[in-house]
Amino acid sequence: MKRIVVLGAGYAGLRVVKQLTHAKVDAQIVLVNKNPYHYESTQLHEVAAGTKQPADITFDIRPLLARKRNVEVIIDEVTRVDQDARKVELKNGEPLDYDYLVNALGFESETFGIKGADENGWPLIDIETAVAARKHLESTLANYRRSHDVNDLHIVVCGAGFTSIEYLGELVHRLPRLAKEYGFPMELVKVDCIEAAPKILPMFEPSLSAWAVKYLERKGVTFHVATPITEVRPGAVVSNDTEFPANTIIWTTGVHGSHVIADSGYDQKRNRVVVEDDLRIADHPDQFLIGDVSAVPNPGNGRLYPTTGQISIAQADAAAANLASLLRGGKTKKFVFKPLGTVCSLGPGAGIASIDMMGHWKLKGSKVSIVKKMINDRTVLELANIRTMLESD
Ligand code: NAD
Repeated sequence: MKRIVVLGAGYAGLRVVKQLTHAKVDAQIVLVNKNPYHYESTQLHEVAAGTKQPADITFDIRPLLARKRNVEVIIDEVTRVDQDARKVELKNGEPLDYDYLVNALGFESETFGIKGADENGWPLIDIETAVAARKHLESTLANYRRSHDVNDLHIVVCGAGFTSIEYLGELVHRLPRLAKEYGFPMELVKVDCIEAAPKILPMFEPSLSAWAVKYLERKGVTFHVATPITEVRPGAVVSNDTEFPANTIIWTTGVHGSHVIADSGYDQKRNRVVVEDDLRIADHPDQFLIGDVSAVPNPGNGRLYPTTGQISIAQADAAAANLASLLRGGKTKKFVFKPLGTVCSLGPGAGIASIDMMGHWKLKGSKVSIVKKMINDRTVLELANIRTMLESD
């Protein structure tokens, strides 16, 4: 019996396992994941802002997958893929042989080598970092009563991508409650968002991004565009000659793929590998790369699609179908991606959305929260809750 090894239990990896079991493939499926749980990476900013608890966005993958006949789960850290020997090397366990590999190891924080970013910024990339960012935020705000240092009430959010904007929405929602709880004056709180690009949320129509910016500004956020961060010091973010003092610095300037990609000798850029049109890689057709470790060219414009939950899940469906076909002696099909739209939340009661389904819809305000509830993963318009994704057979 062939053995398919799937690396990573994020949206992409879990979805592949689900689709392979639904397709009743005649193969052993081994899922390797660092933690015994899956976390919803699109909701980490809520844990970091304290509007959700880790338990709200995590679940144990083992009980769900234990019911699947041909699925084995290994909790271990992947350190390297020996592509020629077809082996996955693990931190603790013995190397794993594979006939087919689905590499869905996901993302890590990107610092672009900026001095001090690793040491002084709080990234939001997994449960541990989101919880650490929340604890730091709360203890720093609480410390003001003793320190009377206004920098304890200054927060800088680095970058204005989706993660930053969604975090800001949750943060400004929670701050008034934190002020009451920890007894600090709201009027001394300062929230700066520093962005290198000249525009905020350029992927939305200007009317929607302008609405989102105004919404957050009204709630106390100051945006600084065309302001590239050049250094992060303890207690300050620096952009050339300007310093933004703050004792809480949230580092959300983007992501790159897992370091295992570079460590395994893939032909990569920022730990993302450009895949063939069937999601395999040219020199190792026994491997599919999906999610944030992959880069998919958009045939419309030749540029790479941005990494999102939506494309990860679409890739997982296509990779699983291609694997099932190969196992039956068939051929693979081209991956065709039809983006269904984008939703950006601005805290629990608001957001903006641009949806391409049965026409083009531009939405803003509280109705976006309803859309968000319906779709759960904010980039994905077709999915049910991730828990039910595995439970239904
Ligand atoms: P991102 O790359 O989307 O945004 C990072 C931002 O930081 C960019 O605007 C960039 O210009 C800015 N930046 C980078 N270096 C800088 C510097 N030195 N100084 C100042 N600004 C700097 O990253 P993200 O927000 O972490 O998102 C990662 C991926 O996940 C993206 O592809 C995103 O689309 C996706 N995502 C989507 C959603 C959603 O659809 N709702 C939510 C979260 C994440």
